[in-house]
Amino acid sequence: MRCNAKTLKGSRCKKKAHSDGKFCAHHGNKKGNLKPSNAELKIRYATVAEMLIKGLTRPEILRHVKEIWSSSEATADNYISQANNIISESVKKDLDSLKNLAIARFTDLYKRNYTIQDYRECRQVQSELNKTLGINEPKKLDHVSSDKSMSPKGWESWYDRDRGKEDKE
Ligand SMILES: [Zn+2]
Repeated sequence: MRCNAKTLKGSRCKKKAHSDGKFCAHHGNKKGNLKPSNAELKIRYATVAEMLIKGLTRPEILRHVKEIWSSSEATADNYISQANNIISESVKKDLDSLKNLAIARFTDLYKRNYTIQDYRECRQVQSELNKTLGINEPKKLDHVSSDKSMSPKGWESWYDRDRGKEDKE
């Protein structure tokens, strides 16, 4: 039997179909069945992603994939790894948009505090923004804020204490 697929030009494929299926090796899979289209594959990956999110185990997913699409174990494993990619991509995207939202909020807060000349709060907002942006503040600043000695007096006593240590070394 001739392959049932159409070429890109619209004419019928001239190759011989696989003995068990309707398509040739180029158009079909190993069993001669039609290969899923890219759109169909996307749906399959998303379906498997849902299974993973629901907490289905690999054997359960393999069983479902075999039932729904009569796919082999290797194909099912490929679907699982593609589904995992989709999940980690979407987590990254969610994190990115949450990060952008946080940056926008901190920027707005900074402006509001600057307007009312609350520079201490401005510094606090900037510090939080830095954390969100992953900008590491110097360790000494962390020390100051962690023991809440943010006043100039606190700074001095801390500075003297630290300098005293250095002098002893
Ligand atoms: Zn063909």
